[in-house]
Amino acid sequence: MQSKSRDGALGESQRLSRRTLFKLTSAAAVTGVIGPGLSNSLVYADALGKEKRDKMTPDEILAAFKRGNKNFSKGLKTSRNYINEQKASAKGQYPSAVILSCIDSRAPAEVIMDLGIGDIFNARVAGNIANEDILGSMEFACKLSGAKVVLVMGHTACGAIKGAIDNAELGNLTGLLAKIKPAIKATTYKGELTSKNGAYVDAVAQKNIELTIADIRKKSPVLAELESKGTIKITGAMYNLETGTMNFFA
Ligand SMILES: [Zn+2]
Repeated sequence: MQSKSRDGALGESQRLSRRTLFKLTSAAAVTGVIGPGLSNSLVYADALGKEKRDKMTPDEILAAFKRGNKNFSKGLKTSRNYINEQKASAKGQYPSAVILSCIDSRAPAEVIMDLGIGDIFNARVAGNIANEDILGSMEFACKLSGAKVVLVMGHTACGAIKGAIDNAELGNLTGLLAKIKPAIKATTYKGELTSKNGAYVDAVAQKNIELTIADIRKKSPVLAELESKGTIKITGAMYNLETGTMNFFA
């Protein structure tokens, strides 16, 4: 009985170590799969440094986001070590862009653009609208911290857009949805104008991105000036929940 039980314990420990070894081997295999050709160029060593970020143009940064989303939508990703990124960025951050996106759980900017810790500032609010606090955050990101792209990212089948179309009312949400309503008025669409029509909802979401970009330029002279000098680029993108792909405006 005693020896049997000892054998049993030994067997379990061997199984565990085999499992651990398998895990390590798998990790190495994954690292090998994603070669430098596929890795996102925003990822330098362990975190984006100041020198590298400052050398990049807004267009190069957008190109890296496009490559990153291509990786994501194909099921590929840059092999990264979060602990190394965390340690490398702990003393300072040099993000390349500020992203304004919806709170939707299915549209996390870093994941869908294959980015890591320290790569982007990330502002999220339902319906990706820009209020004063968001504008202040963007001004900090670009003017003080040196980010070079402002990217307003909307997405398909957005619940906030649907809520605005349906005139939903609830506590503080009513006021937030009111900020999306100008996009409904500005959308020209022939067909069923209800939240049940996905194509209409997405047309309003697209218009909402355009109006948010216009709002940023109009209400933030700080960002408008940086853009007119060519220091930053303010643009948008639409993320498709079904395909995992982003349609960049620029
Ligand atoms: Zn949304």
